[in-house]
Amino acid sequence: MIRRRWLSGICCLSVMNMLSLRSAFAAAQLVQEQSDVAGGMFDVIVVGSGMAGHCAAISAKLSGARRVLIVDKAPLAGGHTALASGSIAFVDARRQARQGIEDSVEKFIEDARAAGGDINEEIVRCFAQNSGPAIDWLQSQGVRFAPNIFRAYGGLHPRCLTAFGNIGARYYISKLHEKSRELGIETRLLTKAEGLHRFEENLLALRLLDKRTNSEYMVQAPSIVLATGGFGANLALRMRYRPELDHEIPTTANPRGLAEDPATGDGLFLAQSLGAAWADMDRIVMLSYWGGRMLDYIGAEIYVDSEGRRFVDETATTSKIAKAIAALAGRSMFVITDAKSDKGVNVGAKIAAGSIHRSDSVAEMACEMKVSAVQLQRTLDEYNKCAQDNKQDRFGRRTYLQTIDQPPFYWGQERLMVHATLGGLSTDAKARVQSESGSVIEGLFASGEVAGGIWGSDRLGGTGLLQCLVQGKIAGIEAARCAAVSARRS
Ligand SMILES: Cc1cc2nc3c(=O)[nH]c(=O)nc-3n(C[C@H](O)[C@H](O)[C@H](O)COP(=O)(O)OP(=O)(O)OC[C@H]3O[C@@H](n4cnc5c(N)ncnc54)[C@H](O)[C@@H]3O)c2cc1C
Repeated sequence: MIRRRWLSGICCLSVMNMLSLRSAFAAAQLVQEQSDVAGGMFDVIVVGSGMAGHCAAISAKLSGARRVLIVDKAPLAGGHTALASGSIAFVDARRQARQGIEDSVEKFIEDARAAGGDINEEIVRCFAQNSGPAIDWLQSQGVRFAPNIFRAYGGLHPRCLTAFGNIGARYYISKLHEKSRELGIETRLLTKAEGLHRFEENLLALRLLDKRTNSEYMVQAPSIVLATGGFGANLALRMRYRPELDHEIPTTANPRGLAEDPATGDGLFLAQSLGAAWADMDRIVMLSYWGGRMLDYIGAEIYVDSEGRRFVDETATTSKIAKAIAALAGRSMFVITDAKSDKGVNVGAKIAAGSIHRSDSVAEMACEMKVSAVQLQRTLDEYNKCAQDNKQDRFGRRTYLQTIDQPPFYWGQERLMVHATLGGLSTDAKARVQSESGSVIEGLFASGEVAGGIWGSDRLGGTGLLQCLVQGKIAGIEAARCAAVSARRS
């Protein structure tokens, strides 16, 4: 029945070859309206409602796709994006120059290479070149940013923005979701994509599970965008590539095991059924986040070991810091800042969870940390001297926003957690998923953390969300174009 109706729709569409893109979409919509299945026919289906999924869906709709569907297996929209601090990296010399910051696409690429090594330069360049306009686009969707451009944690240059009022990336999701509703994009939550098949030459079919009723049904579209996030919470998969990252290591999205981390790599398996290639699967970002770290920028905290001594340049890249923490006894450290620093977006949650402590003096802090007060004071004095003189310290640190000397002191213990996966679906600069042979899989796109092989072994602070934004936008445009071509061909 579904097939017959689709074929009749195809006949109807074939006489419309000469009509405009929008007419073609209108005809495709007619096919959907004739369908009596629960799911039906769409121009573009997006799997995942995080930043990448929302950007793809909105961009597809704005590029002419008539029927756009977002599905998400979770009860709440937003995935990891809804938990993120909100730092977004970008390069826009004009915007940065207003704050006296010099930057360029070439410098961004150089920094990305310094962090990750063997980057995919074509895609990184595409992200950097499109990042300024993408930030403008996000603003045009209703997002407001805090005015200050800053150097994010794990970043090598001041080139990040964050949400107005420092309220985290869940704000981006709420704004993008509002916009998607305004545009008539349908979102089905508690709806898991379980299977992906080629239904016709120009048509893909997705098998969905409605988790409320435990029933399955099919939806079809010429274009499907996978935006299912990473795979850090899939223990078997991550241990296949990194056996040492076992069950004892939580994810930063679920540090206490109290939630269901959606980053199970579903998009990888969905795409694999159509022959998609996976890239760089062993590249996993390890981060300390839910203990004492409380700033989303660098320059106002120090890390000390179990003896109260600094051991690393706290402004280095994420992977360098992770390596240094992994080499410590107990693989844990303390993070210290003071009353002066502007605290990060999740500080309230961390205080509530008891992972951040407050002490009125260095001696009290040392006592609670069970380290020597004399040593801790010496560490702080040495650091504060370098900060006052603004001189490079023995770990190579050059960036100091302030001294750490005004009580109360805030501190906490940190361990490494699985934060993000840099491996995933191999894509080209148009977000088209590539097969093992390097050819493009017609109609299949990927954006956000599900797409891998881009950043090498580490990525700069704020580039996770940058990737979602730019690649999501591109995936949406390309998916709409592919749907239009498919409608014209039919
Ligand atoms: C605590 C934390 C802080 C962070 N802070 C920052 C930051 O400040 N800056 C930055 O750049 N990056 C940050 N990151 C990383 C960044 O948030 C992620 O890389 C990014 O949000 C991933 O977005 P996404 O859209 O690709 O995936 P997600 O936002 O994870 O969305 C994926 C969605 O797909 C859904 N899904 C998965 N499988 C299926 C399926 N089979 N069917 C239907 N739906 C499915 C999931 O339920 C989820 O909602 C942070 C991450 C964490 C955990």
